[in-house]
Amino acid sequence: MAEQESLEFGKADFVLMDTVSMPEFMANLRLRFEKGRIYTFIGEVVVSVNPYKSLNIYGRDTIEQYKGRELYERPPHLFAIADAAYKAMKRRSKDTCIVISGESGAGKTEASKYIMQYIAAITNPSQRAEVERVKNMLLKSNCVLEAFGNAKTNRNDNSSRFGKYMDINFDFKGDPIGGHINNYLLEKSRVIVQQPGERSFHSFYQLLQGGSEQMLRSLHLQKSLSSYSYIHVGAQLKSSINDAAEFKVVADAMKVIGFKPEEIQTVYKILAVILHLGNLKFVVDGDIPLIENGKVVSIVAELLSTKTDMVEKALLYRTVATGRDIIDKQHTEQEASYGRDAFAKAIYERLFCWIVSRINDIIEVKNYDTTVHGKNTVIGVLDIYGFEIFDNNSFEQFCINYCNEKLQQLFIQLVLKQEQEEYQREGIPWKHIDYFNNQIIVDLVEQQHKGIIAILDDACMNVGKVTDGMFLEALNSKLGKHGHFSSRKTCASDKILEFDRDFRIRHYAGDVIYSVIGFIDKNKDTLFQDFKRLMYNRYDWYYLCLELFDIYCMCLHMIIIFIENFHEPYYVRCIKPNDKKSPQIFDDERCRHQVEYLGLLENVRVRRAGFAFRQTYEKFLHRYKMISEFTWPNHDLPSDKEAVKKLIEQCGFQDDVAYGKTKIFIRTPRTLFTLEELRAQM
Ligand code: ATP
Ligand code: MG
Repeated sequence: MAEQESLEFGKADFVLMDTVSMPEFMANLRLRFEKGRIYTFIGEVVVSVNPYKSLNIYGRDTIEQYKGRELYERPPHLFAIADAAYKAMKRRSKDTCIVISGESGAGKTEASKYIMQYIAAITNPSQRAEVERVKNMLLKSNCVLEAFGNAKTNRNDNSSRFGKYMDINFDFKGDPIGGHINNYLLEKSRVIVQQPGERSFHSFYQLLQGGSEQMLRSLHLQKSLSSYSYIHVGAQLKSSINDAAEFKVVADAMKVIGFKPEEIQTVYKILAVILHLGNLKFVVDGDIPLIENGKVVSIVAELLSTKTDMVEKALLYRTVATGRDIIDKQHTEQEASYGRDAFAKAIYERLFCWIVSRINDIIEVKNYDTTVHGKNTVIGVLDIYGFEIFDNNSFEQFCINYCNEKLQQLFIQLVLKQEQEEYQREGIPWKHIDYFNNQIIVDLVEQQHKGIIAILDDACMNVGKVTDGMFLEALNSKLGKHGHFSSRKTCASDKILEFDRDFRIRHYAGDVIYSVIGFIDKNKDTLFQDFKRLMYNRYDWYYLCLELFDIYCMCLHMIIIFIENFHEPYYVRCIKPNDKKSPQIFDDERCRHQVEYLGLLENVRVRRAGFAFRQTYEKFLHRYKMISEFTWPNHDLPSDKEAVKKLIEQCGFQDDVAYGKTKIFIRTPRTLFTLEELRAQM
């Protein structure tokens, strides 16, 4: 059994529930949370509930307890998963990965950091300097990524606004020798606008609060946050975050990681450009849009090392080809504002991608000769947003939810596959298992030629001609009959679909209504060509800019390709106990919802459809041999398997078990509990 502590703390593995039901699942989850047992297994999956308080369970002592142990030998913990992944990678020289999912504030990023710390702690016993250096870089890079990719939201003070997949490479000894970070879906809209109560990315506040006076002067910035309209909303917030101190920590980390001083300087310049851009205002004089505050334009031009009139032109005009001629077409005021914002978002996104690529340059494995050192293997850690259902859902939620749909499919398939393989290995017949297969929803989104993505890509080929509304029409005509798709057109009687612009997908985790507004733009990522040209026409703007505009961030398709390449992932499923960040409250309703959309009951069902529990004969005997005089203190039967058979028959459980080649399989948890009780009575 997973954890040999008393039932006072609930069941350490959900597989051991008496019945697979939501009430029992919730009761166990709540009990364990209240007892400070935030981790629980479902077989090899760890379910984690955010404790919202520091627990003394990540120290050196705990690490020692998990090092090299089998998954079930210790109470459920992240370290158990980290150790299992590490061992699997090392033993079989095979790549593995750990997938961490859950909604915002559920504890994914914290979990990923504990996992990294664990791996750092158990590797490099011989203290090789190079390995120490790599470990240090990997840990330090987190803080830089968080400064530029995280923000305070209403749900989490340090919310990751991007998805992250980090590879750690190991040499033949199992020591980390490098890594690689993939980032995707940065929420760049946050650069220009935030919800009430939320902030933009930490980096802006850090610069304004922590930068020296001299530095701010050179960037034409002032300390007062409320002077900048892009961050105005967040500037009013009282924050527990110490931005000034963080600025120094991040600057230091960039230095340690190996960013050159002029690169760091350029990073600040770009932040400053964005802040200034936000303050640019347009006025209309007759038909002609003008820039109200010319001073700001010259500052932007100076920071971009370009000429003022070029910036002005890029902001106010668009170059269009009409037949053979190329003409400058004037923007309307609205177009000019839109262009300014698109530009600000684009440079921030590219800055972020550039930072990630710089980190990658530095942490990537170098000088590793596989012919000398053998294969280099990888553990990947995926910190991914969970399913999102907001009041208004747009393209971003569509991508995230599709990604989760795909992950769920993979998850169930792999759990099933692993079960099936284990049965085969052990020579036990496989029985069909009923579960909900979400393939139909995955197809709805990704099927070639007729899935939502294909239809969207089609629409984007004709950008400018096809509107969001026409895209929705295309969805209606191609998918109107699909059982998991509906819109007002296809389902007029549906009261929940309020607006013509909406469509609904029936996801495995529940119904989500998406607004089509912005889908085409966001998928195509239109940035006015003139801004791109402006960046290329720079004078002595660092090579960095060139790189900035050559980098492609991972797009949706890339994530899917990557997900499909998973090798036997390990899973951490994070749950947020309440919306108040309180260590005391277990909000049943909120938690139940998360359990549903993480598909946890489905997971338990698959896991115990055949046999809830299995253990090698040797381990089983070790635990229960005192129950029978045939096995205590030692047995004289020809094998451990025979001895276990004898013990089971003596207890009368023969109908509830199957004997594999190396393991005993027990169907119902009750049998196991009875064995435990018998053992306790001895
Ligand atoms: P997002 O999707 O918004 O990035 P997340 O799932 O990554 O959210 P975290 O940032 O990891 O969430 O966690 C949110 C907060 O919850 C942390 O800042 C911390 O205060 C608390 N927290 C999470 N996990 C733990 C833990 N194991 N122990 C103590 N506190 C925790
Ligand atoms: Mg996070």
